[in-house]
Amino acid sequence: MTIGILGGGQLGYMLALAGYPLGLHFRFLDPSPEAPVGRIAQRVTAEYTDHSALEKFSNGLELVTYEFENVPVGAARFLAQRVPVYPPPAALEAAQDRLAEKGLFRKLGISTTEFLPISKPREFAAAVDKLGLPAVLKTSRMGYDGKGQWILRTPEDVAKAKPELPPVKLILERFVPFTRELSVLAVRSRTGETAFYPLVENHHRGGILRLSLAPAPLLEAPIQRAAEDVARRVLESMKYAGILVIEFFEYEGRLLANEMAPRVHNSGHWTIEGAVTSQFENHLRAILGLPLGSTAHAGHCAMVNLIGDLPESAEVLAVPDAHLHLYGKVARPGRKLGHVTLRAASPSFPPSSTAPTSASTPPSPTPPPSAPDPYVVGCSDLPFEAGVLTFLEAANR
Ligand code: AMP
Repeated sequence: MTIGILGGGQLGYMLALAGYPLGLHFRFLDPSPEAPVGRIAQRVTAEYTDHSALEKFSNGLELVTYEFENVPVGAARFLAQRVPVYPPPAALEAAQDRLAEKGLFRKLGISTTEFLPISKPREFAAAVDKLGLPAVLKTSRMGYDGKGQWILRTPEDVAKAKPELPPVKLILERFVPFTRELSVLAVRSRTGETAFYPLVENHHRGGILRLSLAPAPLLEAPIQRAAEDVARRVLESMKYAGILVIEFFEYEGRLLANEMAPRVHNSGHWTIEGAVTSQFENHLRAILGLPLGSTAHAGHCAMVNLIGDLPESAEVLAVPDAHLHLYGKVARPGRKLGHVTLRAASPSFPPSSTAPTSASTPPSPTPPPSAPDPYVVGCSDLPFEAGVLTFLEAANR
């Protein structure tokens, strides 16, 4: 049985690795001849808009899924006329446009930060006046990992942004001075069965995810229930199949939904070693209509992304219960090259792990030595060794 996957990056790579023990085969479509999956599966190199390539790609496939959020919806719909596509293309469409996404959240009664659409540059000043500062300006489409967004703190920031506004649809959001960022990984099978992983605490720098702690430290049942309730509304409204991730700001004890990803997600990588069933295996089970695996956690994890640069593998692997994943990508500044998951039996996270993170306190590129290190805080009793930690920290600068 062969599954087609649109996008051939590390998420697809890890999906295939989870699928091989289930006897599955994979065929990927990606415009780049360098897509990492080329090492382990059939890869078709073609543009997503090339219908004859899509037609050929779909031949003999059981179903198609996607690992890249900006796959053109037209490609997913074209394929859906030939072979089942999960998650539903409607989820992809909503997630690609921040205004549509927030509109969906609102329609389902899900709380978000306040926001205003800006469809023409001349609407910008009035939107800022109405919403107030600080605010976050984002392109409505094609933004990820902090790209296409600007934090406006002062009238000077507004004046500077004004002549540089890109000629695309924008969204202005009220800045949320959140306590922390959390994400929920939810999964719904084609049969309607649903399951939820414990909430994850995420730390970003420069808009890119650096560290996930799972389960989130000091996680209380009501907040987990609230996150599951939000995810369930989205899953059911779309008759969804697959993994769905919703990212939240925790603010004054409440959850505000920021965005959703209709695919496996970076904040779920810890599930490979840290949960009974990984997000990758559960995504495949869900889209095939197989029984879902347990989402219970098996230990406490810190997942650190390796960005731009790699530590020595031997140094990471010398740490007990450290798990190294390298994606086989060429190193480039700001590029996700791999991740390390550190697992421990007990959390005993210090309360300071929930101190405000990068968005409320702008990160300094070289924190003073006495500053609390976000990679130590929150995982103090994980079996870290100081040297490796330094490497991971450096790799994340
Ligand atoms: P996004 O692309 O929306 O996930 O934004 C990337 C990161 O920017 C988030 O994970 C937050 O750290 C920060 N951010 C985005 N929107 C806001 C907001 N409205 N208020 C505060 N921080 C934000």
